Amino acid sequence: MEAHEPLIGCPDGAGGLFPFASAREGQRQFLEDARSCVRNRVNLVAHAPTGMGKTAVALTAALETTLQEEGLVIFMTSRQSQHNAAIETARRIWRVQKIAVVDLISREDMCLCRRKGEVCPCLSSDDCYFLDEKRISDAAMRLLDYPLHATEAQRMCLRAGACPWRSALRALAESDVVVCDYNHLFSPTDGSIIDRAGREMDRCVLIVDEAHGLPTRMVEACSSSLSRAALLSASRSIKDRAARRALQAMLRQFDVLCFGPQREISAEELETIVTDECGLSCQELAELISSSLKKKTRGPLEKVAMFLRAWNANGSSSFRYADPSTGELHCRFMEPWLMAAPVFEKMRSSIVMSGTLHPPEMFADLLGIGDMSACRRYRSPFDPSNRNILAVKDVTSRYEQRGKEMYTRMALRLMEISDAVEGNVAAFFPSYEMLGSVEAEMRRLTGGSRLLVERRGMARSERDAMLVSLRRDERSVLLANISGSFAEGVDFHDNVLSAVVVVGWPLSPPSIVTEEMVRRLSARYGHERAQCYVRTYPAVAKVLQAAGRAIRGENDRASIVLMDERYASMAVRGAFPEDFCYKVSEDIASDLRAFHHPESGGKGPDGKEGDAEKGY
Ligand code: SF4
Repeated sequence: MEAHEPLIGCPDGAGGLFPFASAREGQRQFLEDARSCVRNRVNLVAHAPTGMGKTAVALTAALETTLQEEGLVIFMTSRQSQHNAAIETARRIWRVQKIAVVDLISREDMCLCRRKGEVCPCLSSDDCYFLDEKRISDAAMRLLDYPLHATEAQRMCLRAGACPWRSALRALAESDVVVCDYNHLFSPTDGSIIDRAGREMDRCVLIVDEAHGLPTRMVEACSSSLSRAALLSASRSIKDRAARRALQAMLRQFDVLCFGPQREISAEELETIVTDECGLSCQELAELISSSLKKKTRGPLEKVAMFLRAWNANGSSSFRYADPSTGELHCRFMEPWLMAAPVFEKMRSSIVMSGTLHPPEMFADLLGIGDMSACRRYRSPFDPSNRNILAVKDVTSRYEQRGKEMYTRMALRLMEISDAVEGNVAAFFPSYEMLGSVEAEMRRLTGGSRLLVERRGMARSERDAMLVSLRRDERSVLLANISGSFAEGVDFHDNVLSAVVVVGWPLSPPSIVTEEMVRRLSARYGHERAQCYVRTYPAVAKVLQAAGRAIRGENDRASIVLMDERYASMAVRGAFPEDFCYKVSEDIASDLRAFHHPESGGKGPDGKEGDAEKGY
């Protein structure tokens, strides 16, 4: 089916296994489309904004077909925290009709014996108390009784004396739904979950949640990097002489390869270095290193072995280059569609969905299913009048205009916004460097007592503490990176943010990797589309993700301020979804006050125009 071909109508709307009394507007349309697609063996690629209730839609539509055909629904998410929503929804459906559900996380996270930083003991020895076949079979049967979260399953298995991971795998053969990570199907190393379950793929419906991250996950799963430090450490600790000679030769060449600007390296360059020193290929040297390890670890030797294994694994689908700025060699997989398409082709059908799957046609192309999918966009279920989107033109993150003057202007704008909304503001920056520069200006101008600042590599407990501060203070300004965890992984519920500010237009900096991606995509879709896929839409996705932090529920009300002159251009405006309309503001403080404090007529609390520092 062509991407825009109309779907076959489905008159029944909610009902069936749908676990709620009624469907919201938009959700009903999504449900009709999903039911129709699954019945007709068509993939549905859906941009379904936050609050749509997409988990309930996808599970309902998939189960209504698979339960009749003794099939399996595979619900895939990118993070363990997202398993919760799937299991909670499955429990609601279970109340409508009993279904058998397995929540599967990684073996390491389910293991009952693993020490921190080590792999599961059963990988090097079969001697584990929990490896008892009878107890595993009994635990598997109990897992099928009621949908359990992985942590609940772990506790139950501990009491039963059975390995939770093996019990979950055993239960798969009889289950109706499995909730698991992408790597159970889209990984070069892990075996297919369907094979393990002994299920037929063409009876399975695949649901990919948060699918905007799937192409990148596949790229990362097949890519590898090697630092000089890891290579040096490995060359010192390896016992085998020939292998040590090869690693030392690699080390000598490392500085030559990593000198000067970023540059492409051919697969043969490294192969020749290794073969000349020890007569082995990169792959053979990797096996020699792995076999020399007494037990599996994540040390430098294993890292070098993984890198050497990846070096030639994907032939011309990988791009190999040296990056002197980080002192690393990289082997980057560039063609995720080669890994994804064969999986989707074997399924009965798939529902690929996310709140930021925009445009869905691009994701269908990147997953290699553009010519066998229906692509749909659904409008946000939230009242559009609760969202005030404005653009500010007098700042920019353009590289050539960065500097103290621009950072001061950004700082003043942020203070003005904070002053006008009189609530918490989260500002997202394209880089930590820019964040740091604007933070310094804000501290210089105001002392910065209300600033909360995300740092690189921040621990989860620190992020949680910052969220507590946001709730307590109610007039804070959070400065965060638009690619960091505050922009995607943290849930700002209960309208804790009055405004989200996106500072700059977050294009990825040009590099030989993006150029190479443009070249490959141009060959498939033409240069213009390739530019959009590599540069424009990833920037749009970052903006939408960050903007989505503000409104998490139907009663939330917030402003979104886009700070860059480029948001005023037609090219950038046109790249956003239809329902993401914004006004270019000439007076940001008045426009914000008019939305947040309409009773003041767009003036400050004292009836005058506010100034930047007041109330901050
Ligand atoms: S059998 Fe299960 S519990 Fe035992 S070491 Fe392996 S994963 Fe861990």
